[in-house]
Amino acid sequence: MGKTDTTTKKKLGLTTKIFIALITGAIFGIILHYLIPASSVKDDIIVGGVLHVIGQGFIRLMKMLVVPLVFCSIVCGSMSIGDTKKLGTVGVRTLIFYLCTTALAVTVALTIGNIIDPGKGLDMTQVQANAADVAEMEATSLTDTLLNIIPDNPIGSLANGNMLQIILFALIVGIILAKLGERTETVGNFFSQFNDIMMEMTMMVMSLAPIGVFCLISKTFAGIGFSAFLPLAKYMLGVIIALLIQCFVVYLGLLKIFTGLSPFKFIKNFFPVMAFAFSTATSNATIPMSIDTLAKKMGVSKRISSFTIPLGATINMDGTAIMQGVAVVFAAQAFGINLSITDYITVIGTATLASIGTAGVPSVGLVTLTMVFNSVGLPVEAIGLIMGIDRILDMSRTAVNITGDAVCTTIVAHQNKALDREVFNKDHSKEA
Ligand code: ASP
Repeated sequence: MGKTDTTTKKKLGLTTKIFIALITGAIFGIILHYLIPASSVKDDIIVGGVLHVIGQGFIRLMKMLVVPLVFCSIVCGSMSIGDTKKLGTVGVRTLIFYLCTTALAVTVALTIGNIIDPGKGLDMTQVQANAADVAEMEATSLTDTLLNIIPDNPIGSLANGNMLQIILFALIVGIILAKLGERTETVGNFFSQFNDIMMEMTMMVMSLAPIGVFCLISKTFAGIGFSAFLPLAKYMLGVIIALLIQCFVVYLGLLKIFTGLSPFKFIKNFFPVMAFAFSTATSNATIPMSIDTLAKKMGVSKRISSFTIPLGATINMDGTAIMQGVAVVFAAQAFGINLSITDYITVIGTATLASIGTAGVPSVGLVTLTMVFNSVGLPVEAIGLIMGIDRILDMSRTAVNITGDAVCTTIVAHQNKALDREVFNKDHSKEA
């Protein structure tokens, strides 16, 4: 008795550690907000110092991986598929999935919005509008978004992290490498070795995720009190219910129907990535972790995920589209504007397209929301109402955004015989 046997001590897997970090981070943040009085030790040293530096440092580490990893892995992926026809099939299937799930997401959001009535009976004096901030927002037009896919300077695209341009250029390089075969073997080998280096680096950075998540979550909760949420509680509830439906009914339903895989196991395996997306509110930063998790825990070949995940993180934003759908109902009700069926259809269309133009970084969904509001003549000032409480919703929708990418990727991988079920079904709970 009393003898500690370290060898029998249960080793905590990364998933458990991140889960613990989420909960303890939230508790620590709430304690800081409500129980510790403002002082320079709390504000400057703990929140603005330690939590900020470690949290942001972790996000920067993840972001550091994105451009080289996406570039190398797409080159390697398209080089190994080689056949442009096959690549085309993967591309078209992925695009169809992405567009359909987004349109479905807005429909779910509009339905929930109309059931919950988030803007009815709202006392506008309780809510602080932020018209000045809204005036500064400007969404890119659809034509520009399309034209922007072609890089006029690929080195500039890499330097600026312009994801769609990087994807296009990398795809072309990979296809040409496959075509030239032996003649360009050295360059091909270089990219695949560099890709290995980036994957190894991803694993190293990922092992720091629990600390990063703890700091990010506690800083967020230390900054926001619950009082600001009250007048907008119904709006928030609407968004959260629609996000849960999209994640647990639509995605997991699609996964079961198309692949027969266990939805429960999928969520369990993918949870660390969702938690990371939640704490950072940045789809782009989760790309390396998503590709790695899909390969190691779901058995999805990197040939597919290296292309579909960065593409999804850039153009597939179902969670964002959901927020926009509920926001439309909210604004229409708050300002007493009646929306017709045609308006709703217009919203489904524009929100789906806006999702393509939304970059995977924090708060951009609010910017593209102007496009959706304009399409049906809603006052953009209404965005000022929801701005103050957007952070927590941004976190939640980002987790849904990247789950949608992963589900579509798994389905497309299954359809292209690039899914290893044995890996998916293995017990990964102890893995670091
Ligand atoms: N933060 C979201 C993302 O990175 C985008 C948004 O909805 O603002 O996926």
